[in-house]
Amino acid sequence: MVTRRAVIAFGVVVFAAGASAQEPGPFPAPKTEPPIVTAGKTNADAPSDAIVLFNGKDLSRWRAQDGAAAKWNVRDGYVEVAPGSGDISTSDKFGDVQLHIEWATPSVVKGEGQERGNSGVFLMGRYEVQVLDSYDNKTYYHGQAGAVYKQHAPLVNASRKPGEWQTYDIVFHAPRFDEQGKVIDRARVTVLHNGVLIQNNVEIYGITYNDRPALYIAHPADESLRLQDHGNPVRYRNIWIRRL
Ligand code: MG
Repeated sequence: MVTRRAVIAFGVVVFAAGASAQEPGPFPAPKTEPPIVTAGKTNADAPSDAIVLFNGKDLSRWRAQDGAAAKWNVRDGYVEVAPGSGDISTSDKFGDVQLHIEWATPSVVKGEGQERGNSGVFLMGRYEVQVLDSYDNKTYYHGQAGAVYKQHAPLVNASRKPGEWQTYDIVFHAPRFDEQGKVIDRARVTVLHNGVLIQNNVEIYGITYNDRPALYIAHPADESLRLQDHGNPVRYRNIWIRRL
């Protein structure tokens, strides 16, 4: 005789089996061993599989926007924006990357808001992570240091004082486009500012214009990294990048 209790127990087992059938199955074991990468002593030092884009000595991996030699000023381990000379871009092109870049805004504070220590890291030449002196300097929140410009304010303001070296560690997922040029997978970015998470895998809405809404315009899978000349003598050093 089937007891009421047995029927209930049977039901529970069937329900549990049904629930577990909806879980993802066992994951296949990876077949390739992760490659060995020798990390630097600090994260200022490039890991062994990184491309060093600027080692403090020359701008041989960078070009002005007209393709000529980059005209920013290299001194004593860093490069400084030469105001009016224009943005500089890498000769190498990249898609998904991990980027380490260090920057310092001028120690002599001049200007207010967007006019104080403004530069920018343009992933794929289009998607700006803002560089700005945001230490005791108010501006619109999605325009301060670490913002995805005019799209996402940083989660916190981790800015150091003007003249002090600061770091960005950026993980960037490039957008994907279909054959008609429609975006099918938007760009995403994670940013640590001085080791503090300030952008947590946020979706980028398109090109980070300053004067009109963001939008996507199809582009190649690999593009140059670009640094902005916004008229302020911002400095950079220890720039390395890893293709993902
Ligand atoms: Mg900028």
